[in-house]
Amino acid sequence: MNAEGIRKALAQVQDPERHKDIVSLGMVRDIVVEADTALDSGAKVEVQLTEMTEEERRKALQGQTQQGAAEHLNKVDHVLAIMSGKGGVGKSLVTGMLAVELARRGYRVGVLDADITGPSIPKMFGLTERPISGPIGIAPVKSKLGLSVMSINLLLPNEDDAVIWRGPLISGAVKQFWGDVYWGTLDYLLVDLPPGTADVPLTVMQSLPIDGIVLVTSPQDLAGMVVRKAANMAAQLDKPILGVVENMSHAICPHCGERIDLFGPSHLSAICEPLRVPVLGRIPIDAQIATLCDQGQVEDCVVPAFAQITDLVLAQVPAAGPISEAK
Ligand code: ADP
Repeated sequence: MNAEGIRKALAQVQDPERHKDIVSLGMVRDIVVEADTALDSGAKVEVQLTEMTEEERRKALQGQTQQGAAEHLNKVDHVLAIMSGKGGVGKSLVTGMLAVELARRGYRVGVLDADITGPSIPKMFGLTERPISGPIGIAPVKSKLGLSVMSINLLLPNEDDAVIWRGPLISGAVKQFWGDVYWGTLDYLLVDLPPGTADVPLTVMQSLPIDGIVLVTSPQDLAGMVVRKAANMAAQLDKPILGVVENMSHAICPHCGERIDLFGPSHLSAICEPLRVPVLGRIPIDAQIATLCDQGQVEDCVVPAFAQITDLVLAQVPAAGPISEAK
């Protein structure tokens, strides 16, 4: 038995995740056979295990991703897009909390952060790990609850780096997040769209097989305009709007529990009714939400309004398969 023989034997060992042998993946760093050690029953074999550095891992896997390979292997039952008229109304919060609520109910959930120019999903979930790319695609990063998350922010060298891209490039990146990311089997993939109803979100929506749209507005947002635009867009694309979530709609007094309509009474129902767009729920302004999201702990956040929001989404887009054990 010499080093070559041992290498050959090790080349039979497959890495379970990357479906390639550990020798070609560069995981066997060195083999030393000492002259006086014969590999018989009494032989001494020493194996030193070390973790590959990020750099080694990337080098080993470089160039191995086959474009579009993941898309054919993914089994994603439903893709839901979360959309808003402008930034800052809580679209990412709704994406994150809806994903968390679905995962708490036992569904396999992924989050695709397509808000390339303002990606806040990784921060909300406290994720900083870089995704690893393998032969069949880029593996999304797993959250504490087991959600699969992919965002441009996880690929940037520094999370504060700005992405200054034009529309076509953004749409291209989002398409790659669909075609080159190995999502595996998911019941729901939630797509956090860039704000607005203009070109980029439109192209993104046309590129992915979206089953339904969840609209997010706030009382300060020109809700009527956004809902009408979105309704038009959905009609054009032949995609159903599952409903509207009004965020920061009111506050609850921490002392007496009284509901305070900070922006006056909501007109959302009156706007939605003629358009036949349901209201999914109203989320209060709550310091707990802001604090937990800032600390990367959205998965510890409990917002009662999401029970109804999730029920109403599930009623319109029921999962195809049986759910796994609730978490
Ligand atoms: P968008 O995705 O629409 O740009 P975000 O979801 O990132 O908006 O929310 C913007 C900010 O407001 C975040 O810091 C978030 O934590 C906070 N926020 C959102 N909704 C609420 C809420 N209901 N109560 C308190 N803070 C909120």
